[in-house]
Amino acid sequence: MKNQKKLIIITGPSGVGKGTVVKEILSKDKNIWLSISATTREPRKGENEGKNYYFLNQEKFKEMIKQNLFLEWAQFAGNYYGTPLSSVNERIKKGFTVLLEIEVEGAKQIKEKFPDSLSIFLLPPNKAELERRIRNRGTEKEEAIKKRLLRANYEISASNQFDFELTNHNVDETANRIIKLIK
Ligand code: 5GP
Repeated sequence: MKNQKKLIIITGPSGVGKGTVVKEILSKDKNIWLSISATTREPRKGENEGKNYYFLNQEKFKEMIKQNLFLEWAQFAGNYYGTPLSSVNERIKKGFTVLLEIEVEGAKQIKEKFPDSLSIFLLPPNKAELERRIRNRGTEKEEAIKKRLLRANYEISASNQFDFELTNHNVDETANRIIKLIK
């Protein structure tokens, strides 16, 4: 891929606030485009097809894997998630900076394939705060929360494998720091 430097990965544990920070970045910089992922997870209340995710069944997702239609994909807390290849390539060609908001395994795959991409790991102020954020979101059942918290420990232990580690104390401040890193 040409212009790998235009590929920005934001990763970190579930509940750290990646989505909120990304929204803030998009509102501050119109030249940044967020990749919409595909997932086999059920839509949450208020989530829309093609806006939050492309919601696919497992069969369709696995078919796309077979056909090499993902830039990366991973399993997370019992579901599949993946970045569609074609739209990312298209946006990079058009000169956009492309943001990927993905979990750690996918982020590692991207960093291996595109070493010149910029990868940022968001850390919570502490683990209790992470748990509080996941619970307050109110979007997952207890079982899913437990899976995500367990996974968070593993994900945080991989934080030093990325270009930058930022602690997300405050959305606005974190978004500004990331925009600075991109520039
Ligand atoms: P959620 O179910 O909370 O929307 O997402 C669960 C996790 O999957 C989050 O850490 C999110 O960043 C990650 N994720 C979302 N899309 C993708 C993707 O396309 N690829 C990978 N590897 N992870 C993703």
